[in-house]
Amino acid sequence: MRRLLLLQLLASLFTASPIMAAERLNVVASFSIPADFVRNVGGDRVNLTTLVGANSDVHVYTPAPSDAKRIADAKLVVVNGLGLEGWLPRLVQSSGSKAQIVTASAGIGPIKLGSEADPHAWQSIFNAKIYVTNISNALAAADPVDADLFRAQAKAYLEKLETLDREVRDAIAKIPPDRRKVISTHDAFGYFAAEYGIQFIAPLGVSTETEPSARDIAGIISQIKAQKIPAVFLENISDDRLIRRIAAETGSKVGGTLISDGLTDEKGPAPTYIDMVRHNIKALTSALDH
Ligand SMILES: [Zn+2]
Repeated sequence: MRRLLLLQLLASLFTASPIMAAERLNVVASFSIPADFVRNVGGDRVNLTTLVGANSDVHVYTPAPSDAKRIADAKLVVVNGLGLEGWLPRLVQSSGSKAQIVTASAGIGPIKLGSEADPHAWQSIFNAKIYVTNISNALAAADPVDADLFRAQAKAYLEKLETLDREVRDAIAKIPPDRRKVISTHDAFGYFAAEYGIQFIAPLGVSTETEPSARDIAGIISQIKAQKIPAVFLENISDDRLIRRIAAETGSKVGGTLISDGLTDEKGPAPTYIDMVRHNIKALTSALDH
């Protein structure tokens, strides 16, 4: 009989929440944009660490030894996917982590460039909402005690993203259609372009890993002249020199800095995703709408 009681006790422990009420869920995010989504959904029920920090380039990240420890301690590792974090599988393997990998972009139909998927899906707010829903579902499954809270926080944040999407559409509607074209450093705005109808041309491809050739740069310069592209933009994660050179050779103005693949720190203009979209829209409209 005593043995049966013990088994029942063990069974009840097993079916109870895997997490004690006071314990926060350990989550690692690969870079600042999915990290901001996790923060909005998870709030203070999540203990969040971010691998690639503010203003840094997630394409070419070199993990630090401390990152393996952070991954080893995590219950969830939230990544973008679509081939963005090429450095991550080896890091997870070397950490010996049992963490679940959550691909935040799951379910999004990628834009293809040849055989490569464009990883920058977050630049469309429609896609950002899919990221948030995926993250909410993963947090709720990993911490069922807090599932209702995560769903409520996700719902409130998704409503903010709806409002943001309307702001973007209203702002772009004010730009004359023939001026809706810009140069950016690398091809980070394909999903933004597809969703909102601004053409982006970039000397670098969808990754910052390769340098543009002299021929690529010459091609961009003649395109700017032929299509009368009103402005070129710097990026917060990339070196300024290439774009400044293109601006000097074409006489086109530098319209400002776009936030592409990484948020800024608290002192910068875009410490959150919503700040990033507002910053970019303001930079684009002030350079293009007259
Ligand atoms: Zn990028």
